[in-house]
Amino acid sequence: MARRAAIEIDAVVLRRPGRPVGVERVRLDPPRADEVLVRVAAAGVCRSDLHLVDGQLGEGRWPMVLGHEGAGVVEAVGEHVDGLSAGDHVAFCFVPSCGACRPCRSGRPTLCETAARNSAAGMLMDGTSRLRARDGMLLQHGLMVACFAEYVVVPAGGAVRVPPSIPLWEAALLGCGVVTGIGAVNRAGVRVGDSVCVVGCGGVGLQVIAGARLAGATTIVAVDRTVEKLELARRRGATDAVIAAERDVVEEVRAIADGGVDHAFEVVGSAVTIRQAWDVLRPGGTATVVGVTPKGVDVVLPAIDFLSERTITGSYYGSTDVRVALDQIVQLVVSGRLELGEVVSDLIGLDDVEAALERLRSGEGARSVIVIDEGLARARRAVEP
Ligand SMILES: [Zn+2]
Ligand SMILES: [Zn+2]
Repeated sequence: MARRAAIEIDAVVLRRPGRPVGVERVRLDPPRADEVLVRVAAAGVCRSDLHLVDGQLGEGRWPMVLGHEGAGVVEAVGEHVDGLSAGDHVAFCFVPSCGACRPCRSGRPTLCETAARNSAAGMLMDGTSRLRARDGMLLQHGLMVACFAEYVVVPAGGAVRVPPSIPLWEAALLGCGVVTGIGAVNRAGVRVGDSVCVVGCGGVGLQVIAGARLAGATTIVAVDRTVEKLELARRRGATDAVIAAERDVVEEVRAIADGGVDHAFEVVGSAVTIRQAWDVLRPGGTATVVGVTPKGVDVVLPAIDFLSERTITGSYYGSTDVRVALDQIVQLVVSGRLELGEVVSDLIGLDDVEAALERLRSGEGARSVIVIDEGLARARRAVEP
């Protein structure tokens, strides 16, 4: 049964770029026929949230309730929703593909045109919003999820059931960082014995490293600006670590990998790091750009390198059917072969999102997870000393 009345909830609102984000009381309308209402347990703060806050993904993307990586418990479902019911544990999927557009029909659901259009407008799949500020102003849904909030209404395809045995503060990471990182490794086709370089060891880069280890890569070189993240990278399977700031990254990676790597992954989103991912390749190697680069940034590559049959490609949201991929990843987690929580550097409250965004700006820490409901999430926020 769908809940019929609008509710008032706490949510983190981006009013406009350049202004700190903050918690507001906002109105959330009930789910429509193809939608579900979810009580949010926990949510991860991702670099894409920072890009939105800094206005780097284009004009007009505010006011918005932020957040696209999270997990919670289904509270109510619309009358046309099959396969989900109240009490189910779910992780959010921010591309609830339509199944009908050309990319969907050709097996590339993360490139769904309907989802892309509505997501860019901050709306749900039917082109409308369920969110309003107290003054009545329409609010956008961040990447069709808006989970820096006590509750969300998402399209049914935007909630993927996960087993209750996975604590929700860890399940929160599945729907962006984990599926994006491991999916990129699958798309690149990393094979047993390959050498891999991962440039950027934040919330997604650490998942790329785990994916490369699971795929059987034997040399995994992690590159980052901070020692703290490189230590996490080693725990996740990196065999070598290179500090980005101090030395010539390209020379060092090529020396470690016997002349260059088979696969490089760029997980930062800048022209410099994309160029590094290209320059560390051996002949025939492939660079996969996973990081989201602000609009207007160009990348320059030496064209002579194409003689050595190098490839550069992008990977968006794991280049996969996210629902299928999440089922597979859940098997890895349940069987103990993929640890989720170790990438989390900070457990915070909704009030602390601005500080978490500032840590992302400065490159500190790996993943901050907002614990919105401590009981549901099975986690406690850090208490300030
Ligand atoms: Zn993300
Ligand atoms: Zn589609």
